[in-house]
Amino acid sequence: MIINNSATDPNKILPMTYMWARQHYKDGVANNWTPEEIPMQDDIEQWKSSTALSEGERKLILWNLGFFSTAESLTANNIVLAVYKHITNPECRQYMLRQAFEEAIHTDTFIYCCDSFGLNPEEIYTMYNTIPSIKEKDDFVVELTKHVLDPTFTTNTLEDIQNFLHNMIGYYVIMEGIFFYAGFAMMLSLKRQGKMVGIGEQFEYIMRDESLHLAFGADVINTIKAENPEVWTQSFQSDIQKLIMKAVQFEEAYARESCPDGIVGMNAELFCEYVQYIADRRLERIGIEKIYHKTNPFPWLSTTTDLSKEKNFFETRVTEYQQAGSLEWD
Ligand code: FE
Ligand code: MN
Repeated sequence: MIINNSATDPNKILPMTYMWARQHYKDGVANNWTPEEIPMQDDIEQWKSSTALSEGERKLILWNLGFFSTAESLTANNIVLAVYKHITNPECRQYMLRQAFEEAIHTDTFIYCCDSFGLNPEEIYTMYNTIPSIKEKDDFVVELTKHVLDPTFTTNTLEDIQNFLHNMIGYYVIMEGIFFYAGFAMMLSLKRQGKMVGIGEQFEYIMRDESLHLAFGADVINTIKAENPEVWTQSFQSDIQKLIMKAVQFEEAYARESCPDGIVGMNAELFCEYVQYIADRRLERIGIEKIYHKTNPFPWLSTTTDLSKEKNFFETRVTEYQQAGSLEWD
């Protein structure tokens, strides 16, 4: 059992029960990178130039730095302070330690961006309080985890396990699986136009890590569900659908407000369709009926974000997969 297994010795990793956790760990290690490996000189020149970027583009860059800079810490803290205590299985814990390290790398990425562009940290790191559509996303996820952060919380009863699943869904499916994706689409669209290519590449590395985090989270959720089928009631499933619909609304509001006039090839309507498409994929991944039935409006992005193609994508297209600090495409 992945939770409530008093027979588990958290220090005895062999023999393993959940080989998928081991595989995610190895895949994470193979993706190793650090932000300093990516040169930022061209980005710095574009940022300082008065003509390279429009006001709208500057705004969406700042908002995405603001959102991600604190979201990465929220995610890291949730692993260490909420999830880790309740999942005692050693190979899952080994993966969570790796994930926590990757979140530290992501946090470092935004320090590197702030330093490179000489941004005011008081502006960037307070956006999760000062910008309503960022605050609403973070507050929504934090609310979902509050039961698990109570020091007396256990996973003994059906209701406790459902609360634990709310935490896992809040962070892995909603935060890392939905709330990151309008931002990914915006930053990768800029990169595609030759704008802020360094930050764009950092976002590609982050997205590659996040797709593994999401895969691990979904595997944990599906394992809890398989081992405790009584928690996966019809009403629980429809609660999850409602949570996802709320999350989609928050992400749509974020997309509209951070990028009101669109950028080349992308506008707020398409971002909303994209978020709905992504949300359905996440629901399918945890075995809940999809809601939106949208097609992907950004097919060029699907190779990087489409979870079922992730393996194919990374194995066939990234030729320098095992080598830190370089992403090369066939
Ligand atoms: Fe992250
Ligand atoms: Mn993550």
